[in-house]
Amino acid sequence: MTESLFAEASQRLDAALHHISISEDAIERLKFPKSSLQVSIPVRMDNGSLQVFQGYRVRYDDTRGPTKGGIRYHPSVTLDEVKSLAFWMTFKCAALDLPFGGAKGGITIDPKQLSKLELERLSRSYINEIADFIGPDVDIPAPDVQTNSMIMGWMADRYNTIHRKIVPAAITGKPLTMVGSLGRDTATGMGTFFAIETLMPKFQTVRENTTVAVQGFGNVGVVIADLLWQAGYRVVAVSDSQGGIYAKGGLDIPSVKQFKHSTRNLKAAYCEGTVCNILEYETITNEELLTLDVDILVPAAMENQITEKNANAVRAKYIFEAANGPITAAADAILEANGIHVFPDILINAGGVTVSYFEWVQNRSGLYWTVEEVNDRLKQKMVKETERIWEIAQQKSISMRTAAYVHALDRIGEAIDAKGTRDFYTS
Ligand code: GLU
Repeated sequence: MTESLFAEASQRLDAALHHISISEDAIERLKFPKSSLQVSIPVRMDNGSLQVFQGYRVRYDDTRGPTKGGIRYHPSVTLDEVKSLAFWMTFKCAALDLPFGGAKGGITIDPKQLSKLELERLSRSYINEIADFIGPDVDIPAPDVQTNSMIMGWMADRYNTIHRKIVPAAITGKPLTMVGSLGRDTATGMGTFFAIETLMPKFQTVRENTTVAVQGFGNVGVVIADLLWQAGYRVVAVSDSQGGIYAKGGLDIPSVKQFKHSTRNLKAAYCEGTVCNILEYETITNEELLTLDVDILVPAAMENQITEKNANAVRAKYIFEAANGPITAAADAILEANGIHVFPDILINAGGVTVSYFEWVQNRSGLYWTVEEVNDRLKQKMVKETERIWEIAQQKSISMRTAAYVHALDRIGEAIDAKGTRDFYTS
């Protein structure tokens, strides 16, 4: 990659600035993260040796509330990546009107190489290093790529031990038995599903004739494929990090799920079975999945999947970004020129942080909701903000991505200005 991911991410903001009047003070404020922390995380390995890993937590902007965002474990984690993800979280929380700013954390590691005990020691040790940087009114972590509720449980436990009290709202995405929220584990995928169901009727499509490919069969992709399949869409391809499967007539998603589940070989906390081992379907690579001739493409894995190199080969008509940053800015321009509708990450995958917000609210009130209540509230939020962003896009004749940034920026700009603008002092 020639350009940094953060420079890429900022381009989306620049595009939105042409369509909104926002104070220069607010623009200046949003150019830089509020604070960035880099930590060295010592971990005692099972063989007795000590290894030190690099970790990060970036708080991008807290004008609208305490900062919020997940923690990822991945070999490609860098400060630049975490900063970009924190930037996206700022706009995601504002787009959904959550009372939060944006943050993100990460550790540079391949967690599948660790034993479960090493993983636990790593997670607790990371909290030792960032405990003073986070908190229920300051910055609230949650799961992200290759982290899950079990890991959040260890982290919450460590946070409570350090502070010598139970602080339920300090971390979200916790196990239910540690005051997590019902519906949090399926929230990101369900949010994507609600957005798809709100937007597709605008194109007069019929579910049964609509083909779908989902890249990423992890926490998010499984839920999306399953809900779309249940609603009658024809899910023809899914993939995981090892590769994918394809069937022109549609996959039987419940049996694919079942397969992935039954081959689960618990090495540390991860599911090792790959969908490519399902013999009855044609196998394809992740790259092939992205360029399949389908109606809907859902990238639900990592960033930078559709770039200048493959954007012209993409044949899907609609792309729903369930992952963060799967399309580069250059690829975005190519897709737009080719008439492909792209629905942006800061809206499409916002279901996860929305239910994290519900978890935080429940933790603070001590009153817990049913799964129906959680999903109903999630649906209301997703439908309302999706409709509003659609309207902005239509009114201003701009892409859904730029419209989502305009929508979020409007809210962030107002909050920044409410604290005082240069007009207060110069006129
Ligand atoms: N990691 C998720 C995201 O990128 C969820 C963050 C949260 O729940 O705070 O939106």
